[in-house]
Amino acid sequence: MKEKTEGQKIFDQLSYKKKNVYEEADASRIQEIYEYAEGYKAFLDEAKTEREATEAAIAMAERAGYKSYRLGESLQVGDKRYLNNRDRSLILFSIGEEPLAENGIRILASHIDSPRLDLKQIPLYEEAGMAFFKTHYYGGVKKYQWTAIPLALHGVMVKANGESVKVSIGEDASDPIFYINDLLPHLGAKQGAEPLSSAIPGETLNILVGGLPYADKEVSDKIKLSVLSLLNEKYGVTEEDFLSAELTLVPAFKARDIGFDRALIGAYGHDDRVCSYPALTALFAAKDTKHTAIVVLADKEEIGSVGVSGMRSDLLMDLIDEICAAKCAKPSVVRSRSVCLSADVTAAFDPNFSDVYEKRNSAMISCGTCMSKYTGARGKSGTSDATAELVGFVRSIFADHGVIWQTAELGRVDAGGGGTVAQYIANHNIDTVDIGVPVISMHAPYEVVSKADVYSTHEAFVAFLK
Ligand code: MN
Ligand code: MN
Repeated sequence: MKEKTEGQKIFDQLSYKKKNVYEEADASRIQEIYEYAEGYKAFLDEAKTEREATEAAIAMAERAGYKSYRLGESLQVGDKRYLNNRDRSLILFSIGEEPLAENGIRILASHIDSPRLDLKQIPLYEEAGMAFFKTHYYGGVKKYQWTAIPLALHGVMVKANGESVKVSIGEDASDPIFYINDLLPHLGAKQGAEPLSSAIPGETLNILVGGLPYADKEVSDKIKLSVLSLLNEKYGVTEEDFLSAELTLVPAFKARDIGFDRALIGAYGHDDRVCSYPALTALFAAKDTKHTAIVVLADKEEIGSVGVSGMRSDLLMDLIDEICAAKCAKPSVVRSRSVCLSADVTAAFDPNFSDVYEKRNSAMISCGTCMSKYTGARGKSGTSDATAELVGFVRSIFADHGVIWQTAELGRVDAGGGGTVAQYIANHNIDTVDIGVPVISMHAPYEVVSKADVYSTHEAFVAFLK
């Protein structure tokens, strides 16, 4: 190799360049990255809704020795517990021996809800030889992406007697799937001239659910009746039970490797299970940590973090109060010394749409987990903007543990933007910064991430909790 010139040496010393995780890895490390992805893909297929993610996370937690906790129960050092919030969100925590008033709590906060189509409360009707469900979309979806793809029905129905029935149809290869009709191009000239945002109105996102009339000439709405009788046979429910139900349509696709080299993963709901899963695996890996650690898997992030299961609820602070009481520490002091990584996805730079990105400050796929000092839109509106000191603190942890990471903001200034749960935690005087996996086609029915970035996120969280 040719000796480097003085200028080259100084350039290496002084300048910053992102690293590609795959480029830095040898064959055995790439194998490690790919193996980790297998567990993540299994989690994705098992957990397509926040309720299923909560259930899957509880199963993982119990295997790792975590036990259930309800507010008000007593706690002590060494406890590893999980708080199931109405089956829709989950907070896991382990109480370390370190003094809380000195070092605070290490918090990882991610979310487990994803954009999708929810059923209306009176969804079922028939028209022109077909039965349909009415829907109301949840979160930021591009409506045209949801037509003419296979959909699965997930959720719960609560019967008049209070019994809750779990529904899941469309995941097993032998199950039927559901579908939203789209217009044939032969008659689509007018639709094709519409802007993407209005070409598919929300009220046309009706789910095709049947076509076989009930065998009785005397009844009207025969197809609707045959759907109701099948649902009654399988789940013991009536049409009125839809009134107290949470039913949702999600893409019926499984998580699959993408590309000849299998470097990437395609799946529904990477946002934000791709941060939730590493948060869980990092927590379970942090066996000998002295820190008190909390992992939040929140609901309702996609619609503003509102409500009893969203990040704006008091629950996390109530739990911190309980943990502080167990360790005789003052909650306000503990919060002021705590650090939170708000674990959510960011937009990966996409060369097909390069005009909405500013390349130098964009997340590049496979360059590791991405810390965003701030998010927001229109002049940083809606961001908590982490302090330089906090970014420096987290950066030094990553440097100590050899974590490959990058920094970015979501898109070009004035191109749009986005928000996360960071501000709702920071408002409680907890230092918080965003970090997470760069995603291609975010919020599409099938999103793409790099296995390298998923693993880098796991490694970053392990370092943070150590
Ligand atoms: Mn998200
Ligand atoms: Mn999102």
